[in-house]
Amino acid sequence: MMSITERDKKIIWHPFTQEKTATNVIAIKNAKGSYVYDEQGKAYLDLISSWWVNLHGHGHPDIARSIYDQALKLEHVIFSGFTHSPAVELCENLQQLLPYSLNRFFFSDNGSTAVEVALKMAYQYWHNQGQKDKKLFLSFEGGYHGDTFGAMSVGKNSLFHGVFSDLFFKVLSIPFPLTWDEDLDVVSKEEYALSVLDEHLSEHHNKIAAIILEPLVQGASGMRMCRAKFIDAVIEKVRKQNILVIFDEVMTGFGRTGSNFALEQIDANPDFLCISKGITGGFLPLALTVTTDNVYNAFLSNEWKYAFAHGHSYTANPLACAAALTSLKMLSQTETKNAIHSINQGHKKGIAYLKTNCQSVEHSRIIGTIGAFSIKNVNNISQSIKENFLKEGLLIRPLGNTIYLLPPYSTTFNELEFAYKKIKEIINQIAN
Ligand SMILES: *Cc1c(COP(=O)(O)O)cnc(C)c1O
Repeated sequence: MMSITERDKKIIWHPFTQEKTATNVIAIKNAKGSYVYDEQGKAYLDLISSWWVNLHGHGHPDIARSIYDQALKLEHVIFSGFTHSPAVELCENLQQLLPYSLNRFFFSDNGSTAVEVALKMAYQYWHNQGQKDKKLFLSFEGGYHGDTFGAMSVGKNSLFHGVFSDLFFKVLSIPFPLTWDEDLDVVSKEEYALSVLDEHLSEHHNKIAAIILEPLVQGASGMRMCRAKFIDAVIEKVRKQNILVIFDEVMTGFGRTGSNFALEQIDANPDFLCISKGITGGFLPLALTVTTDNVYNAFLSNEWKYAFAHGHSYTANPLACAAALTSLKMLSQTETKNAIHSINQGHKKGIAYLKTNCQSVEHSRIIGTIGAFSIKNVNNISQSIKENFLKEGLLIRPLGNTIYLLPPYSTTFNELEFAYKKIKEIINQIAN
């Protein structure tokens, strides 16, 4: 009999994969807590929360049960002209955690669509008010906002999107002043970025609809972190020019940076907040674009053409909303806050240990539950290091020359300690 892996190879095309040279995919049979298990029963510690979606560990029975219970009541209903309690309650509960001004919730079903919605709303906000010249967007070098065309346009990651660049709309880009522990140049990097922003603003100020950014951490370009102060300085400048602010918290939301949302660590509030990934605890796809009364009101009219004509078949799926409600309840519990703190401590200890034991480690950076560092003098972590992580039972996917851990909150201090010991052995075997 053929294995799942062999049957997969014959029929499936995987995301972000060069199918010709890729090693065999691993078939996962079941998962529990911080581990996923393959066909042979081998355990892998999921140190990247399965692409940043899992929050409280795999297979959490409370979330599983709420999905089951909801499915018996109402699995789905059209969300134009209809609503349901899980959607309303979820938005009410999320509102409690967000700035008072972010009080209008628009559903979609993944991070890219949450971004598309924000971009389209921002553009139409100005259009509806007769400001049809506001066609430009501002974004940061290295930003990642998803793989649909609008999201690619503001992201422009050449590794993922280069081939499509002729089709993108016009975006002005700002250097990202990434920083790390003991970085001596952070101030000059920030000053340079702000000076580029100033140039864009003086040249194009009344043509810019919005700025989009990943607050505090750029995820996909390698867990690149910046200071909250810098983002405050950016927002202060763009606000003076009547530019809307979009925070893409698809990755940073739901506790990853230590606070419920990264925006809590930044003084200014955005006009749009995009959230997805961790929202259902990693069980089902769901996303929200949250905005203000000011934006919402600009779409109110007796005429249809001012309405926001956008939606998806599975908008506000009740099963996903039920999972999200349970996950959100768990996020607020003291145990979860403690777990987030303990993961942060685990990173501090683990990365200090790597710095004293591995010559190749540099640019360490930690925020909340995210720990990252780079390997000196390489552009890409080698295939053999990647394979050795898996061989040793660690689910880690380096980004370029960066190794990062972004574990689910079920991960214990001891599990992290074990992971960092293994990481030390693997990078010392090969990188030196
Ligand atoms: C993953 C990600 C997206 C895209 O989300 P998908 O659900 O994969 O479409 C957008 N923005 C950020 C910051 C992300 O990390």
